[in-house]
Amino acid sequence: MGSVAAEAFAAAASGRSEALVALAAGDVPLATLRDTAGRTLLHAALAGGHVVAASVLMDAGCSLTSRDAAGRTPGLEAALVGRGAALAELRAMRGGGAGWGFPLAYAVILVVVLGVFYGEALPALPSAWMGWAVAAMVAVQIGCYVAAWQMDPGWIRPEQGKQGGLAGREPGWSVCPVCGVNRPARTHHCSKCQVCVTGFDHHCVWLNNCVGERNLIPFLGFVVSVEAAVAMVLVWTGAGVVLDEAAPTGAVAWLRYTCSVHVYGVFVVMLCGLILAWISILLYDQGQGLVLNATVYERSRQWTEAEVGQALLVLTFGEAMRNVRARLSGSHVAGRPAGRSAV
Ligand SMILES: [Zn+2]
Ligand SMILES: [Zn+2]
Repeated sequence: MGSVAAEAFAAAASGRSEALVALAAGDVPLATLRDTAGRTLLHAALAGGHVVAASVLMDAGCSLTSRDAAGRTPGLEAALVGRGAALAELRAMRGGGAGWGFPLAYAVILVVVLGVFYGEALPALPSAWMGWAVAAMVAVQIGCYVAAWQMDPGWIRPEQGKQGGLAGREPGWSVCPVCGVNRPARTHHCSKCQVCVTGFDHHCVWLNNCVGERNLIPFLGFVVSVEAAVAMVLVWTGAGVVLDEAAPTGAVAWLRYTCSVHVYGVFVVMLCGLILAWISILLYDQGQGLVLNATVYERSRQWTEAEVGQALLVLTFGEAMRNVRARLSGSHVAGRPAGRSAV
């Protein structure tokens, strides 16, 4: 090891984060340094439980997924030497997910669309119940959103009981190669949240949270209620624009009139059209997951497109219903692609 490497490993192992900041500003990229066992600086920092130093190293490009010569990631080594909580602390310190950008964007879209619907479209519509129907769907939507966003999606934290070494004692269980927890089948490690999640479906940037076994139902409720609310706003706002009796009859004159008088209505119709198309794809995808009892993760990583198509074709109604029940109850038994014995 060169002198810089020796100095850096000593600093990482003893948690001297200022020394690491200084070294990171030098010529040698810290992410490339390895000790004789193939460990990175992040292995050294995390195994010592030095979370601030580990965070400095991640800023310098060190990765939680790099492995030493024995195949251990920094998180797994930390778990094996009894510092399993360090990875969870690191996650809490660095914050999970994509931050507040998407939840804020959701709130802004909601306010704009509803503002135009209630302020402009609804007064021109014949029935007040249309306003109540949209309000009911929006209430369900917000309730489901807050639940799915704030709920524990099925985290298995390193400090929760059994760690490492127990894989194979219970059928289907394995040890996470990143954080070292012993986990049931269908658990995956979310690279954005840096934690293992049971029944991991996907990491949803709009929720800034994973969708997993425990928050799947509010997530599905959210998707369905968004689809319903957007469809109602689209159709009723669109009807108000199209059925305006004061509009001239000629096509060009009508277009000119509509785009100047109903400018907000036209904008909301176009925006809702885009949202509706996108949510419909999401809904189709989640519907597939329900009837096949397979998460988005499993279908994208473990099934081929052809297997998904084949499984959908040969599926009977009874099987589909059984799969829906298994998926919603968080069963640890996954569906199987047709014609394959194991995933
Ligand atoms: Zn993990
Ligand atoms: Zn996540």
